[in-house]
Amino acid sequence: MVNAAYVTLVTNDDYALGALALARSLKRVDSDHALVVMTTRTDITLDPLVAEGCEVVTVERLPCSNEFNERHTRERQHSSAPFTKGNKPTFHDPLDNFCKLRLWELEQFERVVFIDADAIVVRDIRKLFGYPEFAAAPNLYETLADMHRLNSGVFVAEPSKRTFADMLMRLDQPDVFWRRTDQTFLESYFPDWHGLPYTYNALQYIYFNLPPLWHWPAIHVVHYQYEKPWEDDHPKRDQLKPLIDLWYAALEGRDLPEELPSQANS
Ligand code: UDP
Ligand code: MN
Repeated sequence: MVNAAYVTLVTNDDYALGALALARSLKRVDSDHALVVMTTRTDITLDPLVAEGCEVVTVERLPCSNEFNERHTRERQHSSAPFTKGNKPTFHDPLDNFCKLRLWELEQFERVVFIDADAIVVRDIRKLFGYPEFAAAPNLYETLADMHRLNSGVFVAEPSKRTFADMLMRLDQPDVFWRRTDQTFLESYFPDWHGLPYTYNALQYIYFNLPPLWHWPAIHVVHYQYEKPWEDDHPKRDQLKPLIDLWYAALEGRDLPEELPSQANS
């Protein structure tokens, strides 16, 4: 598809580093489609991303009410809907997550594949451009009960300003609290979402929680949900060491391993 691109979001230096690993990993498997980096910031350097061929698009935060913004601050989110399964880094701002919706304004593209800046692509994912809106993989990282929820770290969308305007109306309703921000919203907006295989958004906790599903030859995208591989203070560093090494190989443009130690067989 000609008018197709990958899109990610970067609102601070930490996610800029994440996006750099993503950009380099993507280039190895698909140099035909650009990675568009949406950013809310003009005061952080995205030069390394531009050097990798990324297109930078500056976006504003969504024009939501003050009440909406107050309900979705980091502090309020962590008290109203605490994270019990893993830790979010201090540089993660839930309000910034909603800026993902800005990709629906990128009408120069017929179809986009959004990928979180904390993910890397390890195999060709071009076939995702053939999926219709809205396609996402399950939020699978612990039990089968995860299967009915989507994860918004990788999804296929068809930009449309009309959809964007409609989303804004649905998003900012009195007293509505989106406990997992854009993810909960997208699940509600697209209740009949198309399912992608979990291997197109393999969440890092699968590695230790569901080892039989960590089937390396089938995995296309590795998504470092919760703790980020570049965090100094990383409580799961030992458990996730092979995946953290993989991320650094992507960041530094080294060859990726052909095999990854599997906990299922050890
Ligand atoms: N993001 C960002 N700044 C923030 C929070 C999020 O740029 O303060 C972007 C970034 O692309 C990130 C995505 O939104 O990968 C979703 O957040 P994150 O990946 O940290 O959430 P998780 O996957 O851990 O649920
Ligand atoms: Mn993520």
